[in-house]
Amino acid sequence: MLPDRVSVLVAGGGASGFMTAIVAAEAGVADVHLLEATNEPLSKVRISGGGRCNVTHACWDPRSLVGHYPRGSKALRGPFARFASGDAVAWFADHGLQLVEEDDGRLFPISNSSASVVAALRQAARRAGVTLHTAAALQQVDRSPEGFNGRLRSGAAVQCRRLVLATGGHPSGRQLAAALGHGLVPPVPSLFSLALAGQPLLELAGVVMDPVDLELRLDPERVAQPRHRQSGALLITHRGLSGPALLRLTAFAARDLRATGYSADLRVNWAGSRSASQIEALLEQLRQQQARRQLGSWRPWPELSRRLWSHLLATAAIDPQLRWAELRRVQQQALVRGLTASTYRVAGRGPFGEEFVTAGGVDLGTINLATMESRLCPGLQVVGELLDIDGVTGGFNFQHCWTSGWLAGQALAAERAT
Ligand SMILES: Cc1cc2nc3c(=O)[nH]c(=O)nc-3n(C[C@H](O)[C@H](O)[C@H](O)COP(=O)(O)OP(=O)(O)OC[C@H]3O[C@@H](n4cnc5c(N)ncnc54)[C@H](O)[C@@H]3O)c2cc1C
Repeated sequence: MLPDRVSVLVAGGGASGFMTAIVAAEAGVADVHLLEATNEPLSKVRISGGGRCNVTHACWDPRSLVGHYPRGSKALRGPFARFASGDAVAWFADHGLQLVEEDDGRLFPISNSSASVVAALRQAARRAGVTLHTAAALQQVDRSPEGFNGRLRSGAAVQCRRLVLATGGHPSGRQLAAALGHGLVPPVPSLFSLALAGQPLLELAGVVMDPVDLELRLDPERVAQPRHRQSGALLITHRGLSGPALLRLTAFAARDLRATGYSADLRVNWAGSRSASQIEALLEQLRQQQARRQLGSWRPWPELSRRLWSHLLATAAIDPQLRWAELRRVQQQALVRGLTASTYRVAGRGPFGEEFVTAGGVDLGTINLATMESRLCPGLQVVGELLDIDGVTGGFNFQHCWTSGWLAGQALAAERAT
C-alpha cells in the first residue's frame, strides 16, 4: 500500500527510475517509493537489445560519448564528466552484473540475457530499501507548500516532498511535466529505417556493405540543415535500407525528415570514402590489367558484394559478359556514378530497427543537468527518455538513463546531508 505521505516519489519503474531510486536509497535517503504504471517494471529493459539488453557502449571518453546523441549532445558534457560508460560498467559490477564488450563496442550482460539486468536492478532496489508499487500510475500532480500533491489513476492521493519524473516516452509523463510548467519539445520518432520509392534494391535484400558513405538531401526551402551524412554499415532489406549507418543517419536527421514529410533523396557511395576519381582510376587499371576478364566475373574490389555489382552493371545497361578491355568510356563513367553516387528517392519511414526511441521531451533549458532538478519547479527532478535527449543505437540510450538517474539520486542524497 502506498502511504498518503512519502518523502521521495519516483514515477516510472524503468531504467532511469530504478537508477534514481537505488542511488538515493543506497546513499541513505529514507522513504523512497517507486511507482510503476504497469504490472511489470523494467519492461523495456527486458525487451531491449533483442532480449539481450545492450546496457551501454565501450566509449570511455565522455567527450567522444556525447557525439552519439543527436539531441542533448552538448548538454550531456557535464553529466558524462561525472558518470559515463566506465562508471556504469563499474556500478553494475558492484551490483553483481558483469558486462562484456562485443567487437563493435556494445556491452551486454555476460549471461547474454536482459533478465539478469532486470534481476540486478530489482535486487539492488530491494536491498537499498526502495518500495516498489506496480499498477500505480501517477495521473495528476500539483505543487503544495510541502512539495507535491499527487493522484494515482486508482484515485489514491499521495503527498511527497520530492518528485522524480522517470516516465520515459509515455505521454502521461509529458502531461505531468507540462502541468508543472515545463515546455516540451514535440516528440518525433528516431532510429528508423527508410523505404525507397519503387523498391529499386529489392532483389538485393540481405546484402550488407561496410563501409558506405550516405548523404541525405532534403529540400533546403523546408529545413535548416538540408544535408546529413553518415558512414558505416548499410543493410539492404525487403522494405528499403537499414543497418547502423542508416539508423544513425535517420536519428540525426529525425526532425528534418519529419519536417519534409519523409521526402528526401539518398545518395550512396558504395565505395565508402573513396572518391569518384579514385574509383575511375581503379576501373582504368582493371581495363588494362584484367583486360581479358569479363566484367561479371571480376569485381572492382573483393568486398563489393557480387549481387550488388551485378545489379550496378544491369542498372548501367552493361552486359556482364563484356570484357574489361571492351568497356567504353561512357560505360565506365556510368559505372563510376553507380558505384560512388547512386541516388534513391526516399518513399517514407520504414520499420524501426531493434531499438527505437522518441526524440523530444522536456526542454533541457528548464533542467539543471548537474542535479536533474527543474529550474522552474524546485523539488522536481526529470530523468531518462522523458528529457529531450536521445542517442543512436549501441547502448547510448540506456547510458543517459543511468547517468541522469545517478545524478538525480546523488542530488537527493546531497540534499538530505545539508
Ligand atoms: C524494442 C526496444 C529495444 C531497445 N533496446 C535498447 C538497447 O539495447 N540499448 C539501449 O541503450 N536502449 C535501448 N532502447 C531504448 C531504451 O529502452 C530507452 O531509452 C529506455 O528504456 C528509457 O528508459 P526510461 O527509464 O527513461 O523510460 P522507460 O524504460 O520507458 O520506463 C518508463 C516507465 O514508466 C512507466 N510509466 C509511464 N508513465 C507513468 C506514470 N504516469 N506513472 C507511473 N509509471 C509510469 C512506464 O510504464 C515505464 O515502465 C530500446 C527501446 C526499445 C523500444
